Amino acid sequence: MTHTFQYDILVIGSLNADLVVRSPRFPAPGETISGDDLLIIPGGKGANQAVAAARLGAQSAMVGRVGSDSFGPFLVNNLNSNQVNTAHVKVNDSATGTAIIVVDTNGQNSIVLSPGANGKVALEDVDSAPGAKALLLQFEIPMETVLHAAKRYKSQGATVILNPAPARPIPDGLLNHVDILVPNESELALLTGMPVTDAATAELAAREILKRGVEIVIVTLGSKGALIVNHALTKQVNTFNVDVVDTTAAGDAFIGGFASAMLNGTSLEDSVQYGCACGALATTKFGAQPSLPTRDEVEKFIHQHS
Ligand code: ADP
Repeated sequence: MTHTFQYDILVIGSLNADLVVRSPRFPAPGETISGDDLLIIPGGKGANQAVAAARLGAQSAMVGRVGSDSFGPFLVNNLNSNQVNTAHVKVNDSATGTAIIVVDTNGQNSIVLSPGANGKVALEDVDSAPGAKALLLQFEIPMETVLHAAKRYKSQGATVILNPAPARPIPDGLLNHVDILVPNESELALLTGMPVTDAATAELAAREILKRGVEIVIVTLGSKGALIVNHALTKQVNTFNVDVVDTTAAGDAFIGGFASAMLNGTSLEDSVQYGCACGALATTKFGAQPSLPTRDEVEKFIHQHS
């Protein structure tokens, strides 16, 4: 049987309005302090990854839910203007997902996530979703929906890529339906119960994940780049030296970059290198989606650094 794929990349995941205030420090319990003007920035790991891939030229679509408040159209319009198809983003009778973020003068952040409509993304949303060559999943929607989506798309022959973030325990069997797992160090530690502090411990933990049915584990290591572990090899790929402004969405930029390069037929190692360029570039700008680079920016950046 041959499949006609409608999209390169489908994301079934979260859309959030990031409500960001820069503050001289974090308030103590019961305390009120003044910060800068409120910034309302499109975010959510799902939407970030869809926008990341689309800015790099991949045909991308989003499946998810927003609420019936004013943040809903704000987030959907933003996806549309980034060429992400939103025909399958539903409007739910609840609040839109938001992240209340305080950033201090050291660039540290403190976040309260309110899932809102993201918590309502249901099995039926998966069943009515379009076909794609690759499916990108994260953990900001219900776990049963993630499991159902991984099963459905894997059985259709799509490449299923799971970013297990934010870190959560996972149901038995989920990893059987995942081709490529992309955790950061703390997510990998939580999934395996093993300490992950460097490339060597990341390799040991990633090898445990391979035993659970995943073909490839790519551990993102922040400024140390990323580690590829599969049955044939272990390879650390360096990232690029940049002046870091804000690391928000670095992981999302990495995944969008990696997936779109891979779908273009780029080798595994070069796709990871491309993901590193995207992640590094995203750290040079403030905010989630405003920091995600375009294909031209990435190509220029790689050219300058090689
Ligand atoms: P997450 O944001 O999910 O915790 P990481 O911090 O591992 O993920 O970052 C994802 C990718 O972004 C890294 O693999 C790396 O390629 C790039 N990156 C992140 N931080 C830096 C940095 N300080 N310098 C250069 N590249 C970075």
